[in-house]
Amino acid sequence: MTDRYNPTEIEKKWQERWDADGLYHTDLNDTKSKLYYLTMLPYTSGDLHVGHWYAMGPSDAAARYQRMRGQNVFFPIGFDAFGLPAENAAIKQGIHPHKWTYDNIDRMRGQIRSMGAMFDWSKEVITSDPEYYRWNQWFFLKFYEKGLVYRALAPANWCPSCQTVLANEQVLADGTCERCDTPVTHRDLEQWFLRITSYADELLDFSGLDWPDRIIAMQRNWIGRSEGVEIAFSLAVPGVEQKELRVFTTRPDTIFGVTFMVLAPEHPLVPRITTPDRRAEVEAYIEQARRQTEIERLSTEREKSGVFTGAYCHNLLSGEDIPIWIADYALLWYGTGAVMGVPAHDQRDFEFAEKYGLPIRVVIAPPDWDRDPLEQAYVDPGIMVNSAQFNGLLNEGGKRAVADYVESKAWGGRTVSYRLRDWLISRQRYWGTPIPIVHCSACGAVPVPEEELPILLPQGAEFKPTGESPLARHEGFVNTACPRCHQPARRETDTMDTFMDSNWYFIRYLSPQYHQGPVDPKLAQAWLPVDQYTGGAEHAVMHLLYARFFWKVIRDLGLVQGNEPFLRLFNQGQILGPDGQRMSKSRGNVVAPDKQVARYGADTFRCYLMFIGPWDEGGPFGLEGISGVWRWLNRVWNLVLSQPDFGPADPALTRSLRRLTHRTIHKATEDIEGFRFNTLIAALMEMTNGLMQARSGGPVERAAWDEAMQSLLLMLAPLAPHIAEELWAHSGRPYSVHQQAWPAWDPGLARQEEITLVVQVNGKLRDRIQVSADIDEDRARELALASPLVQKFIDQKQVQRVIYVPGKLVNLVVR
Ligand SMILES: [Zn+2]
Ligand SMILES: [Zn+2]
Repeated sequence: MTDRYNPTEIEKKWQERWDADGLYHTDLNDTKSKLYYLTMLPYTSGDLHVGHWYAMGPSDAAARYQRMRGQNVFFPIGFDAFGLPAENAAIKQGIHPHKWTYDNIDRMRGQIRSMGAMFDWSKEVITSDPEYYRWNQWFFLKFYEKGLVYRALAPANWCPSCQTVLANEQVLADGTCERCDTPVTHRDLEQWFLRITSYADELLDFSGLDWPDRIIAMQRNWIGRSEGVEIAFSLAVPGVEQKELRVFTTRPDTIFGVTFMVLAPEHPLVPRITTPDRRAEVEAYIEQARRQTEIERLSTEREKSGVFTGAYCHNLLSGEDIPIWIADYALLWYGTGAVMGVPAHDQRDFEFAEKYGLPIRVVIAPPDWDRDPLEQAYVDPGIMVNSAQFNGLLNEGGKRAVADYVESKAWGGRTVSYRLRDWLISRQRYWGTPIPIVHCSACGAVPVPEEELPILLPQGAEFKPTGESPLARHEGFVNTACPRCHQPARRETDTMDTFMDSNWYFIRYLSPQYHQGPVDPKLAQAWLPVDQYTGGAEHAVMHLLYARFFWKVIRDLGLVQGNEPFLRLFNQGQILGPDGQRMSKSRGNVVAPDKQVARYGADTFRCYLMFIGPWDEGGPFGLEGISGVWRWLNRVWNLVLSQPDFGPADPALTRSLRRLTHRTIHKATEDIEGFRFNTLIAALMEMTNGLMQARSGGPVERAAWDEAMQSLLLMLAPLAPHIAEELWAHSGRPYSVHQQAWPAWDPGLARQEEITLVVQVNGKLRDRIQVSADIDEDRARELALASPLVQKFIDQKQVQRVIYVPGKLVNLVVR
């Protein structure tokens, strides 16, 4: 060992040693005190960036800590390898996605290894491997058998640039594609769906989960459960078979205030009910609506627009004919795609009615209503008016009365509506799991028999996007025989959304080589669910919701036990560029970890990321402070290399050294349990400074020093694993520091030293009190006055003056 701290040399050395010894290989057959610790797997997007280090480094530290606490920790890693980012990048560079992806994996693997994390590489999973995605296909078939998969013609979010469909969750709040920022439009396509809505109610149950409140709130909001009533309006359009139009409303109490009906422009009824004289205008409007994003359509800022279809429906309660309009603020995939227009009690309907001169009829009377026309919609509670037999009811009771009446007439009934839509998994792209379905002209859509799996992605396919799946143009892939009638048939050419892959990768980690099923059932039973999951909050309503749904289905298939996949969740914040913006090459604000690691070493880089602020906050990342962390690790290095003079020491110094050790262990333990790495590192820095002072302050008692150094290295081990190992070895302690127990603190030693304060009243000794040695005057005075013995002598008298002799006495002068 050299005198100088040289991270490049020691980090590589220890990584190789740990690897050779299988130090982080978890014995999954040993299930006592098992702890499944999971960090979200990275996309194979290219070089590892600071965000990866920020996600994985602290997660590794927490997992290492648990291992030092005696848990048998499983901490696996893999690669989320399918999907658009990989495919788009491959297209840009003219490389096949397979080559591009696996080259990236090779590079990223090396970069992840440079972190010195305790990942168990023997369980690595790559989601684009056929051994993995064959089970996506197998799950698809199981879901199909259970009626949880269906195909439907549906207007889909369409990214004109990525040339593919996007799930609602993949459209950003500003209506753009989350991959490429292009405004999203709509298209009608035959699509495969997973029936996540069947599990909507169960997905709203978060009991037993230790998750951040905001993630739970986001999922709740995304599922968007509302209770209401579905009410039929009769329809009598010549030549149209459908005889009723159903609407969902949370306001059945306003049913007599309906003065128009609005259909989504894409509603299949529209072309059939539109009268010839209205047709041209209606078609032009539909065309224009299709070009709008969902966000534009729902914006409250925007002026409402619509077109009359010429058709009417009939309000069975009021007996009135109601004109049917189309308007882009009605969305086909919300509710029934039809909205009843109640302008007096809904502001959006109010604006629409004002613009087109439609009647506005008050049916819930505002207080002190003088029957003048409303200035705006009245949405608060009131008494029902203009509502036939319901007049005079308070509207809350009126909701129940109208619902009862509708049910008694069989015109509809109470129902629950969800904002959540079924999960659209079809992607018209190459780099994903082929959907195991064959289309036969005689038999229809036929599932591929299980024994024919996997349906392999053909290597030779052209993968450039055209709007149709590239697989459709690969004759060898497409042409097959129908599994049922054996006549020539065509394979489904869409691939699955990659969130299918991330649904269950953590299950596959347990037995990546298992061939009889997606997971070895013995291991699934012993190790699932995941005890602790860490990752970015941006996955709140996508990955984390889909994975919960998927888990519940496979629980019902008997593959896993328990209701939830991830018991405890912690979300790290997002690391931004030094300018506070999202890091991106185009902004030129990317901090490349490799360069920093080469300069300072992985340990400094890890610790610096943990030190810059609370882990769940993230924030701008600059390099100003990294040298401070580097200097700290150098100080620790020097403490081990040049020891103090050992000998008979001042007992007070020994006591204060031990107190420093035990107080730091106490604080460090609480901090790492709560993922407060920044304050944990601050405490270790403080301890380092304390040790340096002790070293220069005369002879030091050997046992107290050894205890301090040993504890410091043990607490450093999860954070900076290489330097901790090196210094541990240098000080003659047995390999490996990572197989040692986390230090325990003695509450007695951690406590502040106490002294005895004499309390006098008018110069006479009245009490002695035990106080902490670093007590200040205010606190000493407060404690003296609180003493019952002292109070007896003060009685009704006024305290005129307090004389405080630090560390010795308090004298209260009373009169
Ligand atoms: Zn896009
Ligand atoms: Zn057939």
